[in-house]
Amino acid sequence: MILGFSNGDFYPINDSSFDRFSVEQTEIFKLDGRARAIELHVSNKKHLKHLLENVDKDQYSSFDYISLHAPTKNYQNNKKGHEVLTLIEKICQKWPIKNIVLHPDEVKDWELFLDYKDLPWSLENIHNVKDVDVVIQELKAIFQKYPFFKFTFDLQHLYIVEPDLQSVRKFYQEFSDRLVEYHISSYEPELIHGALFKNSKQNVIIKGVHNINVPIIIESAFVNVNEVEKEFRYINQKLKSYMNSTNPIRKKRNRVLADYQKRLTNLKSKQIAMAQKILQAKKSNFNFNN
Ligand SMILES: [Zn+2]
Ligand SMILES: [Zn+2]
Repeated sequence: MILGFSNGDFYPINDSSFDRFSVEQTEIFKLDGRARAIELHVSNKKHLKHLLENVDKDQYSSFDYISLHAPTKNYQNNKKGHEVLTLIEKICQKWPIKNIVLHPDEVKDWELFLDYKDLPWSLENIHNVKDVDVVIQELKAIFQKYPFFKFTFDLQHLYIVEPDLQSVRKFYQEFSDRLVEYHISSYEPELIHGALFKNSKQNVIIKGVHNINVPIIIESAFVNVNEVEKEFRYINQKLKSYMNSTNPIRKKRNRVLADYQKRLTNLKSKQIAMAQKILQAKKSNFNFNN
């Protein structure tokens, strides 16, 4: 399982938005090598330039999976648009970026991307309208016209408009072959992206992860450093237990084990009852003899 954080997760406590690219914060997100993925969350052109000019190439070399969250800017087919995409292209030359996450509602002209279609783009589900089917249809239309885009499934985004996540299956039906990354976090109105370990009522967001082979980025916002470890452990443990209960082979194995356990307890209680009877018999025998 490839699980890790977005480097933007400390945004509620960072003094500067550039802190996310520091060596110290990267170390925290590594969790001694247990977190295998990192999302480089860039908000603007300055962040992109900072990554290119000031961040050491080796800073992310211990991660197996690096993705880039593209800035949320109006993407138009003009000088500015090409400037941003050229910087992203250079970042992909500096690091082995496996996925570039884009918000489709930020794109004004899709033709801009044709010159950069060899880069690993994906579109994230953004619920700017309440109707989930409309969101699915919009994504479908873009994928049909520009098939080089993959899909990043943000389960928290879906949760905000649909707390029971009943449309999860529709997304899998339509886009499972394009799925390259998951985003998870809880929903907290003040922070937007909250920590899941504080919100067990929102476990449905973790349950929405059906393909454990797809990298998972934790986009939870943290208000102190210790929460990184707590969130990682919580999500890791929940994911494992959900996988155990949904995987058909494991499900069968668990059922067999449960049956066996039951038989064993029955056997034990029968044996105890038998031992008690023998003891009783011995006692009365003893009484009789005396
Ligand atoms: Zn996003
Ligand atoms: Zn996201």
